Amino acid sequence: MSDGTVLVINSGSSSIKFELVHPDTAESVAHGLVERIGEPDGHIVYNHRTGTEDRTGPIADHRTGLEQVLAIVAQVGRPLREAGIIAVGHRVVHGGDVFFEPTLIDDAVLAAISDLAALAPLHNPANVIGIEVAREALPDVPHVAVFDTAFFHTLPAAAATYAIDREVAKENRIRRYGFHGTSHEYVSGRVAAFLGKDPAELNQIVLHLGNGASASAVKGGKAIDTTMGLTPLEGLVMGTRSGDVDPGIVLHLSRSAGMSVDQIDDLLNRRSGLKGLSGVNDFRELLALIGTGDADAQLAYDVYVHRLRKYIGAYLVALGGVDAITFTGGVGENNVDVRRDSLAGLGRLGIEVDAGLNEAKSRGERRISAASSGVEVLVIPTNEELAIARAAKTVASAVRLC
Ligand code: ADP
Repeated sequence: MSDGTVLVINSGSSSIKFELVHPDTAESVAHGLVERIGEPDGHIVYNHRTGTEDRTGPIADHRTGLEQVLAIVAQVGRPLREAGIIAVGHRVVHGGDVFFEPTLIDDAVLAAISDLAALAPLHNPANVIGIEVAREALPDVPHVAVFDTAFFHTLPAAAATYAIDREVAKENRIRRYGFHGTSHEYVSGRVAAFLGKDPAELNQIVLHLGNGASASAVKGGKAIDTTMGLTPLEGLVMGTRSGDVDPGIVLHLSRSAGMSVDQIDDLLNRRSGLKGLSGVNDFRELLALIGTGDADAQLAYDVYVHRLRKYIGAYLVALGGVDAITFTGGVGENNVDVRRDSLAGLGRLGIEVDAGLNEAKSRGERRISAASSGVEVLVIPTNEELAIARAAKTVASAVRLC
C-alpha cells in the first residue's frame, strides 16, 4: 500500500531519482532512477513491491524522463492520483538568499526558484521542470520544495563572506551558501539521537563523502561552517570536482592556455577530483587501482585524505572542540581506509578510531571510536529522501490545518 506516502523527486543535471516513502515509518515503498538524460542510451529503472521495471532508450529531456516515470509508476500500481500520495517533496539545489526552509510551492515560489538558476545553472532548471511535471500529474497534492542550501542559512557572516569587493559580491549574490544541507541536518540530528543528547549540547563535524563531498561544523544544532560555497565546487576533493583550487588557476588557464569559461567549467566540475588525478571517479575503482600499485591512484587518495584532514582540523578550532565526528555518504559509510586515515594519529586531540569497530561490517548507525576516545566517531547512513519526505509532510499537514 502506498497510502500516506510522500513522493520524493530529486532532479539532477542529467538524472532524476525518485522514491515513494512513508515519512513516519521510513519504509521505502518504491524507488527508481532516470539516468543519461539527453543521451541515446537513456535508462529508467523502477524498483517496486512486485519487481523491477528496466527500460533503455533515448530520453530527450527531463520532462520526457519524468513523464515516462510517472506513466510507469501508474502502470505498475494504481493510477497516480489514487495512489494515496499525501505530498510531493522536491529537492531543490539552490535556495539562494530567498528560501531558508521547506516551502509550499505555488506559482510565485516556482518563479523564484527559476530566478535562482543564475546561481545553479545545471540544477535549478532541472528542479523546476521536475516540479512542473509533477504538479501537472498530481495537481491536488501539496508540493513542497526542500532546499539543499537551507541548513547553511545560519552560517555566521565571517564564514559566509568571500573577501572580494563587497559591491560586486552584493550585485551578483556572491556568498558562501553551502550544499548537501538536507544530509548534514538529518545526520547531525541522528547523531544527537544516537548519543541520547540534546542537539543544543553538541559540537559536531559531519563528513558527507559521496560522489560530491562536503564537511560541516555544527554547533548546538546550527551550522557554523561548511566546505561548499557559492556553488558545490568548493571544498573537499570529489569524484570529478576539484574542490578548493587557487582562483588564480582559472585566470592562468584563461590567459595562458586560452581556455574558454565552458572549458574551465568542464575541467573543474567533470575532469578533476579523483577522476582528474587517477582516471576514475568511483571510489571502489580507485581502491582497486591502488591495489595494483597504481601511483596516480595512490596520489589521488592521498590528496583526498589530506584535504579532509585539513578541514577536520579547521573545524575543530572553529568549534572550539568537538564532541562527535561523523562519516556519511557512499564513501563515508562504506570505506574503512578513509575513516582510518583521515583521523589517524590524533590521539593527543582525544580522537581515536577503534580498528575493529571501523572494520566491522554493518549498514546501520554505529560508533567506531575507541572506548578511550574523548571524541565520539560515528558512521550514520544518510537518508536525504526520508528527510525530504518528512519535511514535505510537515509543510503539507500545516497547509491542511489552515
Ligand atoms: P551521491 O553523491 O551520488 O549520492 P553516494 O553517496 O552514493 O553518491 O556515494 C558514491 C560513492 O561511494 C562512489 O565513489 C562509490 O564508489 C562509493 N562507495 C559506495 N560503496 C562503497 C564501498 N563499499 N567502498 C568504497 N566506496 C564505496
